[in-house]
Amino acid sequence: MADAHRRVADAERCCAEVLEQQSAEGHKLKEEWQKITAARQKLKEQAASSRNLCLVCFQLADWSTIPCGHACYCNTHGPVAKALEDRCPVCKGDITDGLKIFLGGFHP
Ligand SMILES: [Zn+2]
Ligand SMILES: [Zn+2]
Repeated sequence: MADAHRRVADAERCCAEVLEQQSAEGHKLKEEWQKITAARQKLKEQAASSRNLCLVCFQLADWSTIPCGHACYCNTHGPVAKALEDRCPVCKGDITDGLKIFLGGFHP
């Protein structure tokens, strides 16, 4: 019995360590993202939203939020936004998924 208890305790300690490491990495990522968010605030409503540019890097926004369908990020930053913010910057809706969109080649 005592042995079983010790094994459970060991397993719990191991889990706690892993969780701690993960949250440290997550925290660092989140800090980076908050910096980016702060820096882009002013520019956000200006050029980007009306010209289909990524709100982070101002490259072409070729990634669309699902389900609302707003194209606010490029294919690099969309998945990051989904992972960290989980809200569409235009309508504040949940981002449940994302879709790479292909632009160009078919313009009239
Ligand atoms: Zn971007
Ligand atoms: Zn939206």
